Amino acid sequence: MTVEIICVGTEILMGNIVNTNAAFLAEGCANLGLNCYYQTVVGDNEKRLTETLELAMSRSELILVSGGLGPTEDDLTKETAAKVCGLELREDPESRRVIEEFFKKRGKEPTKNNWKQALIPEGAKAISNPNGTAPGVLIELKNRSRDRSKNAHSGGNMTTRIILMPGPPNELIPMFQSSVAPYLQELSGQTFFSKMVKIVGIGESRAETMIGDLIDAQDNPTIATYAKTGEVHIRVTASGATQKEAKKICKPVVKEIKSRFGTYVYATDEKKTLEQALVEMLLKEKMTVACAESCTGGLLSARIINVPGVSDAYKTGFITYSNKAKRKLLGVKKTTLAKYGAVSARTAEEMVRGLAAVTKADVTLSVTGIAGPDGGSEEKPVGLVYIGCLVRGQLRVKEYRFSGSRQKIRESAVTEALVLARECILELFSQDEFGQQDDDAQD
Ligand code: ATP
Ligand code: MG
Repeated sequence: MTVEIICVGTEILMGNIVNTNAAFLAEGCANLGLNCYYQTVVGDNEKRLTETLELAMSRSELILVSGGLGPTEDDLTKETAAKVCGLELREDPESRRVIEEFFKKRGKEPTKNNWKQALIPEGAKAISNPNGTAPGVLIELKNRSRDRSKNAHSGGNMTTRIILMPGPPNELIPMFQSSVAPYLQELSGQTFFSKMVKIVGIGESRAETMIGDLIDAQDNPTIATYAKTGEVHIRVTASGATQKEAKKICKPVVKEIKSRFGTYVYATDEKKTLEQALVEMLLKEKMTVACAESCTGGLLSARIINVPGVSDAYKTGFITYSNKAKRKLLGVKKTTLAKYGAVSARTAEEMVRGLAAVTKADVTLSVTGIAGPDGGSEEKPVGLVYIGCLVRGQLRVKEYRFSGSRQKIRESAVTEALVLARECILELFSQDEFGQQDDDAQD
């Protein structure tokens, strides 16, 4: 089935918002094994939307449309799609009831134009929207010719499907996941199973080289690598007639990838984050953690505290941005700061040792660096960061040279601090304990 994506909205064309819906839908299609050949952005303009829809209907079997389902004048996707398909709009009683309930629950009165959202092209199906008032719409046009010169309904034997979804991502994403994806999966007659192998400590090009032979030979399952800040994610997707079959095809390849990357793999669970993997290790070993941050200003603590259930592991954090704070709160020596500077391996070491003395945490982390854009020198350029990690007396201090904006440098430093903490803990314990973290039990 050939797919294309149309995103409607002048805001996207003007660059006011980023077209994240297109990325989400494209990835969703890829995961379902559907080939998406075109993406178009078109403004809230009836004529140009008509042209875009007609072109899409001439070349694609499935058209996913996002945006313009709202109650206002400039929301004209449904009206235009109905016209292009030669269908009248009819009120859908269920959608009307949902709108009534939506407003009743909030103690508000719907305005006249809200009822517009209950209109559905005749013969089309409404797709429920648990997060808003605009239902999605599924239009199935059977026995169509895909020849643009012919009338939409005459002389062909193809089915064209058009799915309209609301623009706000918090409405579109759940609608796609709960209704659209299962419908598409059933249509394709294939089911898909995918696993994400998440890796830290190795760059994308090295990771790709390490599994180059698997990537070259890929067919079913397919293998795709994605570079994230400080991480590489490898998605393995298998198709099969049943979930069980797809899973079985996926499994040996995932196993092989895991064995090649060993302890660099921190998760094979799509949803698991690096901080979550670290917190799980800390909880398992009944260890506590504390952070002393300079240039990251609390971001490291914030990421660790993002993990639910972290309270047994996270002790405290210090934002020691000034030299005075580093001296007073962590006991960094005045002479160290004078001789080596605040951004130095020595300062990172004294920060982490001082933090351990003050907090008695099992794992202490320190970050000190130059996030820029100013403050760099030839000797100490912007992006130079030192991270210290002390785990039960074992010290590691590493130097990093990050690039990018101030925000990017700070985010990179946080990720690398989490990576370093994980490495240091792994060194301390037998690798079997964590190395091949196996999330298969959760499948
Ligand atoms: P509404 O009822 O909110 O008007 P709608 O279906 O009419 O919903 P739009 O008016 O096109 O959708 O967009 C509403 C908002 O949804 C936009 O202001 C934007 O924040 C978000 N949005 C729309 N399209 C996209 C997109 N392609 N990617 C990311 N966000 C989007
Ligand atoms: Mg709108």
